[in-house]
Amino acid sequence: KNGLMAGKRGLIMGLANDKSIAWGIANALAREGADLAFSYQGEALKKRVGPLAEQLGSDLVLPCDVGDEDSIELLFNRLQDEWGKMDFLVHAIGFSDKDQLRGRYAETTRDNFLKTMDISVFSFTTVAKRAAAMMTDGGSLLTLTYYGAERVMPHYNVMGVAKAALEASVRYLAEDFGKDAIRVNAISAGPIRTLAASGIGDFRYIMKWNELNSPLRRNVTQEDVGNSALYLLSDLGAGVTGETHHVDAGYHVVGMKAVDAPDI
Ligand code: NAD
Repeated sequence: KNGLMAGKRGLIMGLANDKSIAWGIANALAREGADLAFSYQGEALKKRVGPLAEQLGSDLVLPCDVGDEDSIELLFNRLQDEWGKMDFLVHAIGFSDKDQLRGRYAETTRDNFLKTMDISVFSFTTVAKRAAAMMTDGGSLLTLTYYGAERVMPHYNVMGVAKAALEASVRYLAEDFGKDAIRVNAISAGPIRTLAASGIGDFRYIMKWNELNSPLRRNVTQEDVGNSALYLLSDLGAGVTGETHHVDAGYHVVGMKAVDAPDI
């Protein structure tokens, strides 16, 4: 194999279908010669993820529910047996009760707060620890976040609070693993139409607003995120860790509505 990722092996967590951000990232990595393994949540997704993995030349497709520590243990034991070592990990996983991704943040329940933090934040911390143990020649870990961590976005609510904690985790993990030449970064992606995004209230409006008001006057694609992920996961990003990198057509630098933006 040739390319930036030739000779590197890594795990993609969070592929649900061909609209997933994980799919954009996996494609960019495979194009550059990476060997990939995939984990999927629950039997229902297996029949979707299997054929997608096959398209990218991977037959290492393993179940993992990140809410269950035993399931994570099994996944990394399998990878240890198959590979021995690994070079990168992509965490493209988030969850919150969609009934609470609309209306007021103040209405978040304790149960959903804890579940959201567990699946969307703690899971990255715990898989990072296990992956890092297999990164004996250094490595790169990547998670996905959103601007709702930094500013109040409509309906993002508890997910925004979780993403803020996830971004803080990235900084702490960068320090923990830096001495072993393992880098930890996040991509803050602009809105993309995926299964997870369809749970967010007024998502269509949010997409339109970003398209009309971002400096590039468009929304980002899975390919945009995939190519930026490639930089962070390959040796091109060798000097970068602890970073939240915005791949959002520049939306995060904007202070008010564009003068040429029509009403929506
Ligand atoms: P998606 O629905 O394709 O992916 C979400 C994935 O999370 C699914 O594969 C799902 O199976 C997995 N998941 C949820 N709970 C899990 C659990 N308990 N165990 C294992 N896996 C679990 O949607 P996506 O938009 O590609 O989401 C990927 C990441 O990107 C998420 O962290 C999301 O918050 C983030 N993100 C998305 C957008 C967007 O607009 N789509 C923008 C910024 C950040």
